[in-house]
Amino acid sequence: MPSISMANLFAFNRMKVNFSVCHSFTDQEFAGVSLVPDKRCTPRCSKCGRMVKQIHSQRNRGVRDLPLGINQRTWVNFHYRLVKCQHCDSIHVEASDVADVGGPRVTKRFSRYIQGLCRLMPVSKVAAHLGLDWKTVKNIDKQGLIEELSKTDYDGLKLLAVDEVSYARYHKYLTVVIDYESGRVVWSGEGRKRETLEQFSLTCRRTSKMVLKQWPWICGSPIRRW
Ligand SMILES: [Zn+2]
Repeated sequence: MPSISMANLFAFNRMKVNFSVCHSFTDQEFAGVSLVPDKRCTPRCSKCGRMVKQIHSQRNRGVRDLPLGINQRTWVNFHYRLVKCQHCDSIHVEASDVADVGGPRVTKRFSRYIQGLCRLMPVSKVAAHLGLDWKTVKNIDKQGLIEELSKTDYDGLKLLAVDEVSYARYHKYLTVVIDYESGRVVWSGEGRKRETLEQFSLTCRRTSKMVLKQWPWICGSPIRRW
């Protein structure tokens, strides 16, 4: 049976495993892994994504990762660097696919696992299963939904309709743009004023020239008279 090294299990870009330990208690095992930046790789700025030359400082942050087995929680001591970006002319965190420094204390891949489980189980069950606070799970699930639903898909649009939906006892409204042929919600924005729909128009202009060409009446002057 082929053996799997810890480095294979934690093969994050531009990072390397420094050391790993395992502790066993009565009914729970803990694995700890220390990840440090691989000095052979040139760091990138998380803001602009470009290579940077100057390291400002180094910090570390403890984050939960995917469990290594049943009843085995994994903690990663994530060492990250602040870089002085010559392109942004300011200090930013080095780009990394391990974890978001300003986000919840979980790795990105553990976050995706949590979001996947939340499609199948209630938040409270996911939290109990993984030994996390339910508020942490709720926030991670919410962030995943925002990222997933905020991407506007313009593919195959031929006929659009606009609807308004009220909530909070008619005190608040959403403007909803629909693909009239399939019923798919294409875009939504808070409010029901002309400016709300103009946001959709702006998104069209930024996102796709094809949409502009196909939908001049949406992205052009008629929308401004609406
Ligand atoms: Zn930058």
